[in-house]
Amino acid sequence: MVQTETEGNLLFPVFLKLNELRVLIVGGGMIGLEKLSAILKNNPSTQITLVGISISDDIRALVSEYENIILEERPYQEEDLEDKDIVIAATTDRSLHEIIKRQAKAHKVLANIADTPDLCDFYLGSIVKKGDLKIAISTNGKSPTLAKRMRQYFEEALPESTQEVLNNMQAIRNGIKGDFAEKVNQLNELTASFVPQAIKITPSAEKKAERKPYDIEELNERYEKLTIDERILELYKDFGPEDVLLTSSFAGNSALLLHLFARLTGSKQKVHFIDTGYHFPETLAYKEKLTQMYNLNVIDLKAEVWKHRFTSEYNMWTKDPDLCCKVNKTEPLDAISGNYQVWVSGLIHTQNEHRKGLRLFEEKNGILKFYPILDITPEERDMYILTHDLHFHPLVFEGYGSIGCTHCTVKGTGREGRWFGQAKTECGLHI
Ligand code: SF4
Repeated sequence: MVQTETEGNLLFPVFLKLNELRVLIVGGGMIGLEKLSAILKNNPSTQITLVGISISDDIRALVSEYENIILEERPYQEEDLEDKDIVIAATTDRSLHEIIKRQAKAHKVLANIADTPDLCDFYLGSIVKKGDLKIAISTNGKSPTLAKRMRQYFEEALPESTQEVLNNMQAIRNGIKGDFAEKVNQLNELTASFVPQAIKITPSAEKKAERKPYDIEELNERYEKLTIDERILELYKDFGPEDVLLTSSFAGNSALLLHLFARLTGSKQKVHFIDTGYHFPETLAYKEKLTQMYNLNVIDLKAEVWKHRFTSEYNMWTKDPDLCCKVNKTEPLDAISGNYQVWVSGLIHTQNEHRKGLRLFEEKNGILKFYPILDITPEERDMYILTHDLHFHPLVFEGYGSIGCTHCTVKGTGREGRWFGQAKTECGLHI
């Protein structure tokens, strides 16, 4: 037997093509302004007639930017309902509202009556909007305030990349072959990992509150006077070990920074490696070798499976390398960087023009960045390598001055072999 639900929220949400409907708003005051603004926010080309005994300056100012809104300063009359699809009664006159409701019913026009849920055929829900994504929230008329708070929550929680994800999904959807059921199965598989990862991990308010404030100028002045060893030791006096994020690409110069941290922290500092899925096999082997040699605790960061597959299927490094780097490099790091206060990486002044202008500390996108070997001289570097018998990435000996993904790296001095022939010089992690 079919169970029929008779309690709880029985409303069925629908999304209207407002630009194909004709809307009447009755009320030229604050409530009328609120309803008018809500409609225009969702669809600025909606055909609207607003009738009111008096019409406020705020409404007139708003409407001055639109040609699709007619204002009529006069009392409401039943004829106003002719040729309308929707009426919104937005006055404080309850008896007028009851009349509008009855007349709307007779004209088969759907009515929303302000502050009177019993008379409403529909409600104007609280709407979360992120690009093309819209989520309607209903509390069954019980608490507009809670609906507003829920909207704020979702607007903050949904990542800024939502529109990009939607565009990518549309491209994938258009490219998928097969019948409807097969398409649905493929899309389900592709998006299986999306939900838990869509909401960016952010540190708890308590954890943020525990963190010590810092003064970048003071840090730079103090650390610039120290040796590289002293800088690393000082870092753990200024910040808790759990607040330090160390990343390594396991490329040309990586052994130097990794050896420094392993030696000075007794290999206690975790190392994060962004695995783009496009690394040279030699890089992955080198990573294993250094991990064993320096007893490293390496954590791999990867793009969401379906997003990585998208970049692979569309050869994204040729069409849009910035998007490819965003998906495979910056997003995986962004997903965890909020858990840390300081991000350490091995940038060096001599690597390119952008890096030449850096200081030891800088703040980028809400995280403090620290480059302890930024000003190392070639002589100092060679001496450290010699003294500690460091092992280089094997491709260095084949003429690769800098080593990234296979698709975007050729032989060359310094970083000239990265994105060769393109204006691009950075993957986006350090700009
Ligand atoms: S370096 Fe090239 S292959 Fe690697 S993520 Fe960036 S664009 Fe893609």
